[in-house]
Amino acid sequence: MNHQPSADPYLPGHGDPSYTVEHYDLDLEYAVIGNRLAGRATLRIRALADGIDTLTLDLHHLKVVSVRGVRTTRYTHRGGRLVLKLAESLYAGATAEVIVTYRGVPKVVRDKVGEAGWEELEEGAIVAAQPGGAPSWFPCNDRPDAKASYRITMSAPSDYYVVANGVRTGRNRRSSQTVWTYEQREPMAPYLATVQIGQYAEHEISGCSVAVSGVVAPSLRGRFDEAFADQPRMISEFERLFGPYPFANYRAVVTTDELEIPLEAQGLSVFGSNLLGRDWESQRLIAHELAHQWFGNAVTLRQLRDIWLHEGFACYSEWLWSEASGNDTADQRARVHWGRLSELKQDIVLGDPGIHDVFDDRVYKRGALTLHAIRLASSDAKFFELARTWVHRHRYGNVTTGDFEALVREVCGRPVADLLDAWVYDEALPELPPA
Ligand SMILES: [Zn+2]
Repeated sequence: MNHQPSADPYLPGHGDPSYTVEHYDLDLEYAVIGNRLAGRATLRIRALADGIDTLTLDLHHLKVVSVRGVRTTRYTHRGGRLVLKLAESLYAGATAEVIVTYRGVPKVVRDKVGEAGWEELEEGAIVAAQPGGAPSWFPCNDRPDAKASYRITMSAPSDYYVVANGVRTGRNRRSSQTVWTYEQREPMAPYLATVQIGQYAEHEISGCSVAVSGVVAPSLRGRFDEAFADQPRMISEFERLFGPYPFANYRAVVTTDELEIPLEAQGLSVFGSNLLGRDWESQRLIAHELAHQWFGNAVTLRQLRDIWLHEGFACYSEWLWSEASGNDTADQRARVHWGRLSELKQDIVLGDPGIHDVFDDRVYKRGALTLHAIRLASSDAKFFELARTWVHRHRYGNVTTGDFEALVREVCGRPVADLLDAWVYDEALPELPPA
């Protein structure tokens, strides 16, 4: 049996810990009819250990046409792993270029955690890659802690609009095809890379402290404007609480198709047309996805077991927005959800929920309640200093629950950090401190 490196026990068969990627240059062409993708990916990689003679990349379902750049004696591609045998070993710190040409019909990657990746829509495509879907559309080192800068170039039929992560640096129409170029300069985990293709129009949302836009079919524009009316206020509120928005821009993409859940990518979020509403359920999701730009995208977990560091903050941000927008206070929301959680089975450890429960709603709510407990046990001033320091110190990097505990100890003091233990490592739900 082949030795298969893995970076995360929750995602076996993804990621190679022996190297990282500094930059991805993805040059892609997409045929909407037939859902066919052709690409050339240039990866600038850096070895993290001495004597690396094999590089393993992740690429699912698509067919490798050629591998160039670094000198290889041979390569194999099976089971979603592209394994390169190097002609000469790499030493720690050495860089090399790997150029992979590939093509095929992209589809989601199925893992024990679920399905993720490239999905064909009625009209176009989306990429929703958390946690293991990045290899559905480009060869990568699929670990969240191998963050890189990206340039994504996509050629698509001219009647489609294409969005990817970062700043658009090119849009060139060549008869029936248009070539779009996007550059993501801040480091990005592979699962947060995305392209969105649809019959969209993009419009600026004015009054925001950063460049914010909506990407939506013209027929949905009225409902979009209503649903996203509070977007500027929401961004200012989160900047006040968590510090500056961490990226150059933010896009809210609304697919014409209905989507079960919205999803975050770096610098953009994707919502289904069914999620456009003024009701709390829709508004909380708009707040949730925006908050992921700070918690999840700028500050990213090292391993999936620590997902509560993303979802706890995003869920707590919903409650903070509820209070800021004149709805129920965060404390009211917290007490309602504590009551509901206390009636559910308490068999999940927040800090290590297991593969099957990693996206269980109990992890989200208990994560948010853990943050509320820290706030109640310290003070508002200390709690938001904690949140801002967390983002400022770790943005564009990766974190563990241990890093968070250390910061709680530093900012809020030892007794508060000790309280965290039961919330993160016990199954039983601790009492919330008094308001
Ligand atoms: Zn979330």
